[in-house]
Amino acid sequence: MTTPSRRSTGSRREGVNGTLQPGTDGLPRRRGTTRSLATVNLLLANVSDGVILLDGDGRIVDANAAAERLFGEPVEVGADPAWFIPRYNLATPDGAPLPVERMPSLRALAGESVRSAELSITRPDGSRVFVSISASPVIVHGVIDGVLLILNDISERVRRDREATAFQTLSQQLASSELDLNAVYKTIVTRIAEITGAQVVRLMLYDPASRALRRAAIQALRGMPEEDPGPIALSELTLDALAARTRLPVVVPDFDEFPAGTRPTTSGTGSVPGAAIAVPLIVHSELVGTLSYDLADPHTFDDAEIAFLGMIAAHSAVAIYNATLFQQRTRERAFLADIIDHLPAGLVVFDVVYPTARSGRAAQTDYRVSMLNAQALTYLPARLVERTRTRRHGIVGLRLRRIATDEQSRRLIESLDQAFHGGEIVTGEEVSFGQDESSDDGRTWWNGSIVPLRERAGRISELVLLATDITEQVTTRRRIEELVRIAGTRAAELEATVSAMTGAVTVSDAAGRLRLANSASLATYGVDSLSELLRISGIEERILLRHTDGRPVPPSDRPLVRALGGEALQADYTLFHHALGRDVHRRTSAAPVRDGAGDIIGAVAVETDITSLIEIDRLKDEFFSMAAHELRTPLTAIKGYVQILAKQLARSEQPSPMIDKSLTTLREQSNRMERLINELLDFARVETGQLAFQYSDFNLVGLIEEAVAEAARATQRHRITLQTQHGEITGRWDRDRLAQVFANLLTNSIKYSPDGGAITVSVEWPGTPEGDVTISVRDNGLGIPTQDLPRLFTRYSRVGDSSHFHRSGLGIGLYITKEIVDSHGGRIGVSSQPGQGSTFTVSLPLQPRRTPRPVGAEHDPTVTAPNVPNVRHSTAGQHGQRR
Ligand code: ADP
Repeated sequence: MTTPSRRSTGSRREGVNGTLQPGTDGLPRRRGTTRSLATVNLLLANVSDGVILLDGDGRIVDANAAAERLFGEPVEVGADPAWFIPRYNLATPDGAPLPVERMPSLRALAGESVRSAELSITRPDGSRVFVSISASPVIVHGVIDGVLLILNDISERVRRDREATAFQTLSQQLASSELDLNAVYKTIVTRIAEITGAQVVRLMLYDPASRALRRAAIQALRGMPEEDPGPIALSELTLDALAARTRLPVVVPDFDEFPAGTRPTTSGTGSVPGAAIAVPLIVHSELVGTLSYDLADPHTFDDAEIAFLGMIAAHSAVAIYNATLFQQRTRERAFLADIIDHLPAGLVVFDVVYPTARSGRAAQTDYRVSMLNAQALTYLPARLVERTRTRRHGIVGLRLRRIATDEQSRRLIESLDQAFHGGEIVTGEEVSFGQDESSDDGRTWWNGSIVPLRERAGRISELVLLATDITEQVTTRRRIEELVRIAGTRAAELEATVSAMTGAVTVSDAAGRLRLANSASLATYGVDSLSELLRISGIEERILLRHTDGRPVPPSDRPLVRALGGEALQADYTLFHHALGRDVHRRTSAAPVRDGAGDIIGAVAVETDITSLIEIDRLKDEFFSMAAHELRTPLTAIKGYVQILAKQLARSEQPSPMIDKSLTTLREQSNRMERLINELLDFARVETGQLAFQYSDFNLVGLIEEAVAEAARATQRHRITLQTQHGEITGRWDRDRLAQVFANLLTNSIKYSPDGGAITVSVEWPGTPEGDVTISVRDNGLGIPTQDLPRLFTRYSRVGDSSHFHRSGLGIGLYITKEIVDSHGGRIGVSSQPGQGSTFTVSLPLQPRRTPRPVGAEHDPTVTAPNVPNVRHSTAGQHGQRR
């Protein structure tokens, strides 16, 4: 086939027979065939395809009405082909500018027959159409004389294709987006904007709680403001709200068609668009939100468009739903992980690793750590944790059997095996995992359980080890056990000690119930065991407790009862023992027992039998009394002769200083002896209640001055001073007896201050007749040990200290002194610090005050007065006088 040659430009104008000529209707026609041409013209005008005829130079000769519609204006006759490209922005369907040589018309002029070339034409009004162009050369006499172009509008098809492609892309993007909600939203609106050429695209999410739509993403193009419409209530007259409410697509093809006031709005832009559409997003019949977009110009949405948007909406809804679900799941996972991390228990999840066929028949199931919290690290076998410390994932992912080489790890595997093979929960109590096996330091104790988890098929896939730290409970319990053991030993030791004691020990609890009585104590009550004693209703049935002066002791005054009240006491009692039928004398010390907080939890009493001591005292009394009487007669004789000798010596012409001195010494010593004998006799009188008093009125200060002067004469090493504000305090007392009192106190002060020093006597008196005179004698001598103070004023009381013992004395001076003071209705007391001196204080009323003798003894037939031994206490004057 020969390719027809192209005719020269000039020849066409000349016209040739049989060639087409442009006519008045713009269509080429053959001369002389006007009728048939008119028919053709009519035909062309009515075909839906665009038809354009070009001449041999490619210039437009004629075009039909359909062609003009496609270009959006009357086609420019005679225009150069190249002119079309910029005029209509000719481009390939994907938007690339069309090169001149690719123009179908020029290709046809070159002899090519072009079939269905696709182009996009942008009309002068800016709208775009896609056309399919077929171009055929018109050959006349073997020469290319022109070109016939046939144009088809394929806009609709192109749009569909593009939609399909866009949809595919969107689906792919949604599927591959990382389930990040915001990314999903953005993808949806961007794609829709691209496909539809909309000026605003909106994705709104429905919030069921507030029954409102909220913006998820908005894409505004072409300079439209991108505003957040805020929450849109479903009741509002906006397209989104309508679509959400009706769950149907809502379409407005032309907003201008609505009468004012009834026009629905779109959300998010201030301006009124040309057209708009909104579709609901629904998943599993749940409203998720709406998708909508605005077009600048009025637009009729056909079913295909609506269906397409519906499809995108359905797809988006699922994507949003999934992403939401995923986000929720992620949050839940994080939450769960948080809980696990903060669990007060240690948690480890082991994956069960089943042996494979390759690993051989003998292979065992292994366990791989798949998850654990921080707590778990403190109880997992130390060596196991240590070995993996340098790994990035720590212990996670490791197979236990491969790394468990130590004893603890093997024990752990055994427990896991047990749970795995038994298929049941295995629990372990007080399991210990020490960092150091050999010591309790840093050792922890756990209560744990291993829970097997099964897959649906029933196979165990995981084992969960849960353990709680009970170190504190265990160590506390152990400490208590140890304390109980120690306490038990101590109690046993104490009991052994107590029962071996010769003193009677009785212990009561806070409620006053007897808890302990040693054998000596039981013996006092004539019973063999404590239970026997407790069975007795009232110990009174066995004994009758009295004070030493014979007064019965009421139950509320019993030593243990007083001790429970918080008092620490020491006192002597006499008790009549019914079983023995005689009196027993006891010295009792009782004190409260306190716990660590200082609360009284019981009381203890220790009693010693002083019956024999009292018997000795009685014998001493008898002896002293007898000796005193026996000594008095020869002493009177000695004193008489000393007097005679002194008189004779005074009259002698040859005075002998030696004899004079000897006689003075003799007089002094016999006086001293006389004082001792008198003291003994007084003592005997006190004991028999025959100490007599002769009261007279005199000045007490004068008497004390004399006593001080007398004492001062007897010592050179002591400075004795008298301090008083009063020159005279007159009252009624027994002068000789009080002289005896002060002499005794001053003699003691001198005697027990062997290193000399100051002795101060002070006299105080308030100056009123009712006010007592208080005389104190203070020295800086040896002092008196505290434990000796309570018994200082009793008979034969001498301080046990060796420094005191060397001084001569009978230990009865203070006893008599107290008796004299008591008889005046006064009081005597002492305060002392060993090594720092003592202060004795006597207070006397101006008139002898007689306190009545306590009653009670008369009612008690068992009192054997006056032989009741009299043991007195430091609480001087407390019981008043004895008679
Ligand atoms: P004595 O004849 O043994 O002095 P007292 O009854 O006068 O007997 O005194 C009893 C005991 O009290 C004395 O043996 C002495 O241990 C102690 N005593 C008395 N007065 C004092 C004092 N001023 N300083 C220290 N100890 C004293």
